[in-house]
Amino acid sequence: MAIIIKTPDELVKMRASAQLAARIRDTLAAKIAPGVTTGELGDLAFEMMKAAGAKSAFLGYRGFPGQICTSINAEVVHGIPNHARKIQRGDIVSIDIGVVLNGFVGDTATTVMVGVTDPETIRLVRVSEEALAAGIKAARAGNRLGDVSNAIETVVKKAGFTVVKDFVGHGVGRSLHEEPQIPNYGAAGRGPKLKPGMTLAIEPMVNMVSSDVDVLEDGWTVLTRDRRPSAHVEHTVAVCDGDAEILTLTQK
Ligand code: MG
Repeated sequence: MAIIIKTPDELVKMRASAQLAARIRDTLAAKIAPGVTTGELGDLAFEMMKAAGAKSAFLGYRGFPGQICTSINAEVVHGIPNHARKIQRGDIVSIDIGVVLNGFVGDTATTVMVGVTDPETIRLVRVSEEALAAGIKAARAGNRLGDVSNAIETVVKKAGFTVVKDFVGHGVGRSLHEEPQIPNYGAAGRGPKLKPGMTLAIEPMVNMVSSDVDVLEDGWTVLTRDRRPSAHVEHTVAVCDGDAEILTLTQK
């Protein structure tokens, strides 16, 4: 299937859904503290989506039971919000928000450090952010998809960490998952050429030691096989001539 190029009108709608996702992400990130449950974060996200006339892009997707994904420490992605799961000091909490507004999806994630003092964990989160920034920088018209993948992998490898290979970024638009798949590893100069109007969800998943992952018995939660921490960050971007537009960037 071909990569869908969005029209200027569709990009306006993408911008709106992405901005809602970003607002929810930032609101939840500010609320994260010891004692708060991931279930409360899911509830707050649901309220914000409802108030905006939007829906979760994740709820019901292949049967996913949550409004958002919340993944703590060794959990990589796809953790399910839970009212019994309290956030603790020292945790890193990935929140992944996908919304559908006016028929278009915005998808974004961040990893919040909750009073983290372990230097290696702090570095892990910082490196995931740097890898995302490098991937976005490579997402320019005329470059190839492999340039994005390679930029992410290069930052992570250089830092001595590993990228998850079993889960990838993706095109995004009317559907949560469109072509292309965007691995967080691979050779530069390969893959489809990027064109203005492509909208991509770029999302490095960075493990501290081994890239191997397991899926929990709940059928969803992905966690590192070695149970060491993992960080996950994501932006939805629109490819342009020159720098990509980060649709889920926080607006001041
Ligand atoms: Mg995504």
